[in-house]
Amino acid sequence: MKQKKILYIDMDGVLCDFDGAADKHALRNKYKNRRDCIPGIFKDLEPLPGAIEAFEYLWEVFDVYILSTPPWRNPDGWIHKKDWVEKHIPKAKRRLILSHHKNLNKGDYLIDDSHYRGQAEFEGRWIHFNTPDFPNWDSVLTYLKDVVKKDYEDMEPYKESAIQDLGVHIKNITEASDDDSFKIDEKALQKSISEIDQEQAEMYNAEVDKMNIMMEELNNELKGLKNISQKLNKKK
Ligand SMILES: [Mg+2]
Repeated sequence: MKQKKILYIDMDGVLCDFDGAADKHALRNKYKNRRDCIPGIFKDLEPLPGAIEAFEYLWEVFDVYILSTPPWRNPDGWIHKKDWVEKHIPKAKRRLILSHHKNLNKGDYLIDDSHYRGQAEFEGRWIHFNTPDFPNWDSVLTYLKDVVKKDYEDMEPYKESAIQDLGVHIKNITEASDDDSFKIDEKALQKSISEIDQEQAEMYNAEVDKMNIMMEELNNELKGLKNISQKLNKKK
């Protein structure tokens, strides 16, 4: 079974507007050289434009985690990062990973604006946010949508064989059922479907719904024919 690809998303400068908050903070001059030590700075960061919407899309097609480096000398920031995720992206509950060594996480894509924490050594593709190639969320989404499209195309042969397998399965169930009942064994069918990924399963479910409707119509016709036959027999 094909698994979703793993995608990591950084927080500061990618999901949250750290610079925007630090630039206008009352203590910005005092903490000029250690902006990440400004007390409470991580608590009320605004999401960057398009970040939450992009996350919603990516959540559907990737196995998404948030991968952020917490401020070592500002321990409240560790908790505030968790609070930020809970407030702005509650569905990402327990998907927050705090690390100073981002290269150690297994995965396919990392969206990150900095290069200080192992990003360049990450085993997958590092999407360097806020650079000419990826200046904003729109450009990242354009790139990742292409990735998804290509993956989908690569799955075509797999889909064909899955559809054939499903067809054989439906035929077996239908043949095994009573003559009078063309009802498909939903339980057995769902077991087959669960082995296919969700997107395809939805497509197959729609097909199965159509088939069930057809089967019901056939059953009704069959009943009608039986009624006519009984009436004819009585008349004889
Ligand atoms: Mg960052």
